[in-house]
Amino acid sequence: MSIIYQPSGKALEYSPLACNLVIGCSHGCKYCYCPSIMHTSQNDWRQKVYLRKNIFDQLQKEAERMRGDKREILLSFMTDCYQSEQVAEYTRTALKIFEANKLNVQVLTKNGKLASRDFPTLKRNNWKFGSTIIFRSEKLRAEWEPGAPPIEERIAAVKEAHGMGIYTWVSMEPVVDPYESLSIIDELKDYVTFWKVGKINHYPIVEKRIDWKKFLENVELALDGKAFYIKKDLEKYRG
Ligand code: SF4
Repeated sequence: MSIIYQPSGKALEYSPLACNLVIGCSHGCKYCYCPSIMHTSQNDWRQKVYLRKNIFDQLQKEAERMRGDKREILLSFMTDCYQSEQVAEYTRTALKIFEANKLNVQVLTKNGKLASRDFPTLKRNNWKFGSTIIFRSEKLRAEWEPGAPPIEERIAAVKEAHGMGIYTWVSMEPVVDPYESLSIIDELKDYVTFWKVGKINHYPIVEKRIDWKKFLENVELALDGKAFYIKKDLEKYRG
């Protein structure tokens, strides 16, 4: 199986190519779909994080074969590429391979603090920095993303990247509380180059209590004049 792969389905709305260096993710998000895809438990997914076998040898070969390919490679859909110091080191190694082979990368993380050490690399290569931020409330963050870094750190990292002239994007998905998501737009709209906004799926209790049409209207109002993409799941609520 290739390390750099073409995602399928909804993930293609985010990136034409992607790469996962490790299996597992210590952030332990309540809404994470990865354990079910990988046929494992939430606990094992969170606690048994390991580097994929022979990953860097294989990545080196694939990157050389793709040398100069302009399609974006997202790190990562199935894990957080800056979830810990150790995983951040793996990511740094991969970024060096991508850079040496003139490939095009975007990172997506909830750990902006660790990612910020690679901002000079992102800046030098014109790569993108993305962060998933769906709440303003730290209480909700602790409930839904118990192992992930605080919201303040993510906000600070987006502002820092923007200040360095790096293309920044925010993934606003899943949406658990529309008010919380709109608060993030309000706080960060002058620091984010591009927004990707979706809804929540596979969580009927939350999904049913939200007026998605109203949320879509409010998002478009809040992002008037800004660059954004409404994911297909939310787009279908347009009147
Ligand atoms: S950061 Fe992503 S991969 Fe990690 S637990 Fe949360 S949803 Fe899953």
